Amino acid sequence: MTANHEARPVQALDEGPARELCGIILHPAGHTLSPILHQAAYAALGLDAVYLAFDVAPSALEGAVAGMRALGVRQLSVSLPHKEAVLKLANHISPEAQQIGAANTLTRTDDAIVADNTDWVGVLRTLEPHGPWKGRRATVLGAGGAARAVVYALRHLGMDVLVTNRTRERASRLVDELGGRVGSINEPYDLLVNATPLGLQPQVDASPVGAEELQPRALIFDTVYRPLETRLLREAAARGCRTQDGLDMLVHQAVEQIRLWSGHSPDPALLRRAADHALQGDTALR
Ligand code: NAP
Repeated sequence: MTANHEARPVQALDEGPARELCGIILHPAGHTLSPILHQAAYAALGLDAVYLAFDVAPSALEGAVAGMRALGVRQLSVSLPHKEAVLKLANHISPEAQQIGAANTLTRTDDAIVADNTDWVGVLRTLEPHGPWKGRRATVLGAGGAARAVVYALRHLGMDVLVTNRTRERASRLVDELGGRVGSINEPYDLLVNATPLGLQPQVDASPVGAEELQPRALIFDTVYRPLETRLLREAAARGCRTQDGLDMLVHQAVEQIRLWSGHSPDPALLRRAADHALQGDTALR
């Protein structure tokens, strides 16, 4: 074996070309929708690849990334709690991941592991059909990793962004780094985004804001997708607001991940159908 040898899965005697190996790293182990999305896309695009879920504890993260090189893994989706820590382990960080401060994708090229963030693309593609958004007002609830990708996307769309968060200092840090300002839910908005876990199973009775704070005619976008119709979205619809669930964001970030390694973009509608089908069958998926 030469120093430049590129590791990759090897075909068995009775198989065709060697498959590409992709996957997701997360911890603790849980059910994840990502294998369903990626496998549906690979099948539709005719890509000879498999996508597996790996439970990787924080102490094993460095070894897992080294394993991408050693085993020739093409791409890893990166889920909680690794999105920030993987930045230190990549050879190259995209400008977007650098600014957001988190990566949800590691892609192996011939000579490097590249860290990208496609969550913000998921937000962008989800919101574009509801636009135009330039110059309009957005209020973002939360200041964690999801909120950072949301704010990055909203700024990219040219929106006037306000962030409100339980821990005010965290919101201040976010707007210092990504733009926008810290404010309160009482200010007018055209778009409200929930980027907190409030409403997520099993706390389905929780909502990040009171129903009376939902401003009619605004679009209410909940990044939570389990359940698909959260209490926030139910109350928003009852108040006459337009609503957007969180599953399209998940679908579009996966579409962008697949484009990054394969150069091909699967049909988002096909992935959405696969995800809807899976969610109907298993309420434990996330
Ligand atoms: P995170 O980094 O842990 O941040 C969580 C945020 O929610 C923080 O701002 C936190 O406030 C706030 N928060 C948590 N519990 C709260 C409570 N009880 N009351 C008020 N605020 C609370 O998590 P994340 O990665 O940003 O993920 C947040 C959610 O986004 C996830 O649960 C998931 O549902 C959703 N998400 C969706 C997608 C998608 O593709 N649709 C992708 C990623 C995430 P403090 O700063 O005060 O702690």
